[in-house]
Amino acid sequence: MKELGFKVIDGYRSYTDIEKAVERINSIGEGRGELSYDIDGAVIKVDDFKDREVLGATAKVPKWAVAFKYPPEEKETVLNEIEINVGRTGALTPVAVFDPITLAGTTVSRATLHNQDIISDLDVRLGDTIIVRKAGEIIPEVVRVKTHAEKSQPYHIPMTCPACGTAAVKDEDEAVIRCPNIDCPAQLLRNIIHFASRNAMNIEGLGDAIVELLVEKGYVRTVADLYALTMADAMTLPGFKEKSAGNLISAIENSKKNELDRLIYALGIKGIGQRSAKLLCQKFPTMEKVMSAEKEEIVEIENFGDVLADSVYNAVREPHRIELIRRLREYGLNMSYTVKETGKKLEGLKFVLTGTLPAMTRDEAKTLIENNGGKCIGSVSSKTNYVLAGEDAGSKLIKAQQMGIAIISEEELLNMLEN
Ligand SMILES: [Zn+2]
Repeated sequence: MKELGFKVIDGYRSYTDIEKAVERINSIGEGRGELSYDIDGAVIKVDDFKDREVLGATAKVPKWAVAFKYPPEEKETVLNEIEINVGRTGALTPVAVFDPITLAGTTVSRATLHNQDIISDLDVRLGDTIIVRKAGEIIPEVVRVKTHAEKSQPYHIPMTCPACGTAAVKDEDEAVIRCPNIDCPAQLLRNIIHFASRNAMNIEGLGDAIVELLVEKGYVRTVADLYALTMADAMTLPGFKEKSAGNLISAIENSKKNELDRLIYALGIKGIGQRSAKLLCQKFPTMEKVMSAEKEEIVEIENFGDVLADSVYNAVREPHRIELIRRLREYGLNMSYTVKETGKKLEGLKFVLTGTLPAMTRDEAKTLIENNGGKCIGSVSSKTNYVLAGEDAGSKLIKAQQMGIAIISEEELLNMLEN
């Protein structure tokens, strides 16, 4: 490669003796701080093609090329503060803030502490001298406490949300604590973005930046406020003219007609994804029915466990959410689900979708397959019946070819449905 003019690293060596190779690995490790680039390991490759064949490969990697990983570099620093971050679901995450140190070539001064259990296990306290490293050379983490600060006390995460002051609650089966206030300003922005997103209420033109502006200008405090937005409000957004403002308002207006499963998913109930929202609506096809469903009834739904049933049951009894749903109803949002007559042409068949289809989006193709009794799964296996492939299909297509699974185009899918 070098002779051909490729750029190769300086440090490579060829050995016929494994002891020498091990020595070399150690010396690279000792000198890695001096390199002009970061490394997390060194690779040994067998350079004889016959030996490579003998060694073979696992399902994922060749056995003739193996990386030795060096232990991550560790540094000492002082913990100044533990900051509490608020996520979209209201999870409160403690973050260690410490004197800046250089690790794997970059300056770091923060590392997540995950939750109270981790803090208690480490017994990390404010002012402590701590040891920090980069896990996988990327994410900084506190490894251990070297010495406690004088007169330090064990640290406990405050049980109130730093953004809104609401008392935090602890999830039963998790170490996570959350802010339960669905109007919490820290969660609000991320909630609205989720609400408007393509798989939820699918409000075209209401992207992250526009949502941020609407919140900043005070037009929107909860997702219900979106439906009170006027042309005049929208016209005040930078770059918005009559046409663009009109488009936004009508996109919001159109979303009122969405089926209930989209709304349920958009409400961001913990554990409820698109598919579980649909299953929930199939059993309880109106908002009233969802809200009055008993835990024992919810848990009967396919793949719903106790935890998810509890989550739904509690979510629709949370006062903020009840008020939100009342307002959405007042604005005329559709609160029911049309149980579709499903066709049976694809019953029992499992599909994997890959690549870009010529006329349909993947979501549309998925809905079409499901409405005809088929199932869409994420990865190709021996149980897959068909792979629906479009342009730029990747590894799934290759796998299907290797496994001899039928590969069909969008047109062929449509033919299957017609005949
Ligand atoms: Zn809060």
